[in-house]
Amino acid sequence: MRVIVTGGAGFIGSAVVRHLVLDKGYQVLNIDALTYAGNLASLKAVDGHNGYAFAHANICDRAVMEQAFADFRPDRVMHLAAESHVDRSITGAADFVQTNVIGTFTLLEAARGYWMGLESQARDAFRFLHVSTDEVYGSLGDEGLFEETTPYDPSSPYSATKASSDHLAKAWQRTYGLPVIVSNCSNNYGPFHFPEKLIPLTILNALAGRPLPVYGKGENVRDWLFVEDHARALDLIAEQGRLGETYNVGGRNERRNIDVVRQICAVLDRMVPGSAPRHELIEFVTDRPGHDARYAIDATKLEEELGWRAQENFETGVEKTVRWYLENEWWWRPLRDSYDGQRLGLTEPQK
Ligand code: NAD
Repeated sequence: MRVIVTGGAGFIGSAVVRHLVLDKGYQVLNIDALTYAGNLASLKAVDGHNGYAFAHANICDRAVMEQAFADFRPDRVMHLAAESHVDRSITGAADFVQTNVIGTFTLLEAARGYWMGLESQARDAFRFLHVSTDEVYGSLGDEGLFEETTPYDPSSPYSATKASSDHLAKAWQRTYGLPVIVSNCSNNYGPFHFPEKLIPLTILNALAGRPLPVYGKGENVRDWLFVEDHARALDLIAEQGRLGETYNVGGRNERRNIDVVRQICAVLDRMVPGSAPRHELIEFVTDRPGHDARYAIDATKLEEELGWRAQENFETGVEKTVRWYLENEWWWRPLRDSYDGQRLGLTEPQK
């Protein structure tokens, strides 16, 4: 199996690459532009492996994408490259429109040209998995879950550009027959998560004795999924999902942000006792504009149709994640030192 992964130097993409190369024995070409969010250190485990190759390239570059398809001859594409941080999309949406919309369009066109030139057996086997977010569905009230049929209602520039890219991917399936599947996932967490996001930011700030900023009153609810569970789900969907379908991915782990932050503090207090309980570092800050109240995923279709189950619950997942940050300072220290979240106004990001 030969797989092009876009955005493979990012948080989820690197988990997908590690899973495909090390657990599945696939041949992977990682195409990544190495923006601030891309980090080849996250791929140390596959560096030099004969199943892994890297192309430093931008998905908006049509000629380079066409050449990559022609040279690598993939059986499958897993498209994760994106601008992914909501707060950055609010202060500067242009990169989001460029990569998430134009980049996805460019990649779909390069894939379509390549796919049309394949022999019939290879054409039938080809798959293009477009990886997206539950944020395209907007916000839930206290009740209900996002289903695959929930109407799109994005709130932020990030989710609006992801919604656009989902529509493009589905249109390429319906109009041109390109074998596309779309997945929409809830908030991920786990190792190799960039320190601007809520969980790693909280871990590292708490360790350093710095304030733990929480938007509003911390009442916003997110549905958390361990990143390695997501990587397995994506492989399964690409392999066995039905063409033209959408699959929601979620871990049934709904938590209020304030409870997530308190839980991390409690785990850290136990693992690395400090002079005072770390929850005293929590500071409530002005809420994000357009901040969605609640996200929660109904993953029944993925569970019943493809037999997927999340292996990690939130308690074990948070323990593993905190331990990973404690043991892997070599990975986060350079990012943390070069990154000034307060200056950028990136106080308590979601994803
Ligand atoms: P990330 O920001 O950590 O990584 C994105 C990667 O894409 C980076 O390596 C970056 O260098 C690369 N990239 C950005 N622009 C590019 C371009 N123009 N050309 C090539 N590469 C480019 O993101 P992530 O959290 O790993 O998310 C991956 C995908 O999963 C995204 O599509 C995101 O919308 C989706 N998603 C994320 C979450 C989450 O909780 N993080 C949840 C659901 C869905």
